[in-house]
Parts: sequence; C-alpha cells; structure tokens
Amino acid sequence: MKNIKETKVVNFFYLGPPGSGKGTQAALLASFLKLKKIDCGGALRQLIKEKGYFAQKISKTMQAGELVPTWLVVNLWFDFLKNTNLNQGIITEGNPRTVLEAEILDDMLFWLGRKNLKVIYLKVRLSEAKKRMLLRRVCQKCNMPVSLYFNPEIKKCPRCQGKLVRRLDDKVSTINNRFKVFEKQVLPAVKYYRKKGNLIEISGEGSIDKIFKETLKKLNLLKK
Ligand SMILES: [Zn+2]
Repeated sequence: MKNIKETKVVNFFYLGPPGSGKGTQAALLASFLKLKKIDCGGALRQLIKEKGYFAQKISKTMQAGELVPTWLVVNLWFDFLKNTNLNQGIITEGNPRTVLEAEILDDMLFWLGRKNLKVIYLKVRLSEAKKRMLLRRVCQKCNMPVSLYFNPEIKKCPRCQGKLVRRLDDKVSTINNRFKVFEKQVLPAVKYYRKKGNLIEISGEGSIDKIFKETLKKLNLLKK
C-alpha cells in the first residue's frame, strides 16, 4: 500500500449515545470545516420510502432499535466515498457502530489515503440523553429536527409550520433498546479508538454553543 498517496484532509467520525446531540454538533463542524457529511441514517430512511421488502426489513429493524447489518452500511459507505472528491474531508454521525465496522471503515479510508482520522466522542449521561430523546421531534413535512428539550415553547415547525412528530426510531419502546444496543455494540467501538489513540472526548452536556466551542478548542481550531 506504499504507493497510495496520502491526502491531507481530515476525516471525522462523530460518536455518542442516542440523544447526545451528535447530529447537531456534526452538522456544525461540517459547515465550519466544509466537510462532506455521510448520513447513513438519512440514507436508510430514504431507502424505507422506496417500499418493497428491503424497505420493510430496514424499517422493522430500525423500529426495534436494532442495528441494520454491517454489509448494508458498508454499501452505503462505498456509494458515498466513490462520489466524494479525495480532497474533501468527510464527517459521519453515529458511524461506525461496532468494532467490526470500525475495522472495515478504517480499512476503506486507509486504502483511499484518508489517514488523518479523528474520532469525536460526545459523552452524555444516559439519563440525560434519554430525557432529550423523549423530547425530540421532526417536522412531518420538511423533516427539520426540533428539540423540545432546548426549545420547550415550540408547537409547530419553525420553518414551514408543519406538524411535529416523533422520528420512527424515537418511539418510547424503541429508545430503551437503542441504549442497550449502544452499550453493547457501540461502546466497544469507542474503546477501540481510545486504544488506537484517535479518540477526542467531549462533554455533551450544556448548551449547543458551549459544546461546539469546546470541540473547536480541543481540535486547536479556536483563535486565541
Ligand atoms: Zn417543516
């Protein structure tokens, strides 16, 4: 693999329990550093809209709070990476979800010369994360996510006045299982990166702004 040219761009994996706010933080960092976002969750929700048995299987798996299979995620990654310029940094949200996925994704990035990898882990107490998830909504019309935790007075979508509903995988019955899956499958991936020395840990409690500033500080991106 000596011949593969290393690119200078930085690649980020953003990990954290469900409800940690990793989606919001990853979006902020993506726009700050002009990173391309790999949105596997969005791609899966898109697949569900296409109907058919694939859609049904994916929908059932997500509604149960279980992880969709690794080969499906790797396929989404392949599609995404082959359509991404090598000079552009990427950022994920909630991926990789297991040690197996971490090893495969590391291998994909390494092969492409994307060797500069930083893994950010948003640490939030599970009781706090659960509280936030129960107050998470999405606009039925335009899909804009809205947090009643951070904006308790909101009744309708601030963008299009659409109705606010729970996301498919945010049902109360699903949430508990998602936390179990997180502890059993995702935490080992976090430990894997801690051992490798890629991990940057940030407290995910406090305001969105405060957490983002802390992130920039830890990444040495804040002007002193
Ligand atoms: Zn809307």
